[in-house]
Amino acid sequence: MELNLLTLCYLIASITFILGLKMLSNPATARKGNLVAAAGMTIAIAGTIFLYEQDGEKLHNYAWIFGGLAIGGIIGTLAARKVKMTAMPEMVSLFNGMGGACAALISLVEFNHLSKQLAANEVEISAVQPTVLIIVLGLLIGSVSFAGSMVAWGKLNGRVKDFSFTGQNILNLLILLVAIVAGVILVLNPGQPLLLYAILGLALIYGVMFVMPIGGADMPVVISLLNSFTGVAAACGGFLYDNKVMLTGGILVGAAGTLLTILMCKAMNRSLQNVLIGSFGGHKTAAVAGGKQQGAYKEISLSDAAMVMSYANKVMVVPGYGLAVAQAQHVCHELEKILEEKGVEVKYAIHPVAGRMPGHMNVLLAEADVSYDKLMEMEHANDEFKTCDVVLILGANDVVNPAAKNDPASPIYGMPILEVELAKTVIVNKRSMKPGYAGIENDLFFQPKTSMLFGDAKKVLQDLCAEVKTV
Ligand code: NDP
Repeated sequence: MELNLLTLCYLIASITFILGLKMLSNPATARKGNLVAAAGMTIAIAGTIFLYEQDGEKLHNYAWIFGGLAIGGIIGTLAARKVKMTAMPEMVSLFNGMGGACAALISLVEFNHLSKQLAANEVEISAVQPTVLIIVLGLLIGSVSFAGSMVAWGKLNGRVKDFSFTGQNILNLLILLVAIVAGVILVLNPGQPLLLYAILGLALIYGVMFVMPIGGADMPVVISLLNSFTGVAAACGGFLYDNKVMLTGGILVGAAGTLLTILMCKAMNRSLQNVLIGSFGGHKTAAVAGGKQQGAYKEISLSDAAMVMSYANKVMVVPGYGLAVAQAQHVCHELEKILEEKGVEVKYAIHPVAGRMPGHMNVLLAEADVSYDKLMEMEHANDEFKTCDVVLILGANDVVNPAAKNDPASPIYGMPILEVELAKTVIVNKRSMKPGYAGIENDLFFQPKTSMLFGDAKKVLQDLCAEVKTV
């Protein structure tokens, strides 16, 4: 009876995960989707703690279980409450790494368990080989995900710099190959715990080495790839424990991460192989060093910018990372409303990798209650720019850099961009002429159609609102 109830809990949880994921794909239902999946996870955890039985015995080490839940819950809640929107990708990376570490630890614990049974001749080698295979896979993938996510976390918060050397890709492949061979030997002959620790060490080194050279605009792809690794590693844990909900959850994360990775690669017009072994950092240095001398740029005053926008028929706002840094989403929405009261049509052009995490701009603007039907995906926005009188760029840089189309030497060459120069006038708000995340100059700022409106996005938008009201 209890086992049936537990199966029911797992079934409900699995359904909520799928529903939650589906709801997350639309900004209007995303918040609810998160809650639905979290409720399912709570049911699964509670079911496991109170209903799970093995050989007629229930879980008994409640002090450890609830101690761990309390510590993790408090840290998670505080971190999520404290984290700034702009630091969200770092937190995602950190939490993702923790998931990978958990999966690797499960493998270590289960191998230890199996080793004892083997030593006591309680099980046949051939009977445990499939389990050892899953243990090795969980350890390998989980450790790579943990080490890689830690490096990605360091890179996103600026503590770790891109690092690569000639032949690094070959060395990386060699490390991975040795780890795989060690894994195969361990599966064939499971009585060698030292090999397991060798795999752990190699996988950790590989995780660090494989993310170290990747940087700049390629980070979103790596983060979502590592996310899918953690999902697969967690699914291995589900397989080991014959726990259906862990298996379903892991597979869903793995599949969602893989799909996101593919979509991000498409958004940047790069192949995954090119992202992973293309060593972005190296190209970047060359491109900046060899960067051509830029011409002069022109500035626009607040009152002129207010005038141009007030008399426009259509204004397209291009939000970027700087808008998130300035936390200017609310005042941006206010400007939109003021302009619309004057009969100006206002829309937003959303680049898939604008900001620092997938969907960053959607989340940011949703927070300010900007209507979803005003948000245009890149392809549609690119069709509409030619009908816009003004494009107002707020703290975006790489996603509007024409070098992605025109300069084969540029590290972002091939990435689809928002083709803002098709509009009649382009106004760029940022604080200086400094480059964006990819560290490269932007020709757009020097084009005749473009005018710079320097200053912090929030302050500039507040002043613009005041000016537009007076026009
Ligand atoms: P960028 O990082 O290219 O540019 C942001 C610009 O905002 C900077 O040039 C900066 O210029 C300006 N800025 C910063 N603070 C402010 C402020 N307070 N007020 C006004 N402007 C400000 O951002 P984009 O959104 O254009 O592009 C995102 C980049 O990040 C891409 O290269 C993408 O690949 C990468 N990335 C994306 C991830 C994702 O998942 N979306 C994850 C990781 C990386 P200044 O200092 O002069 O003000």
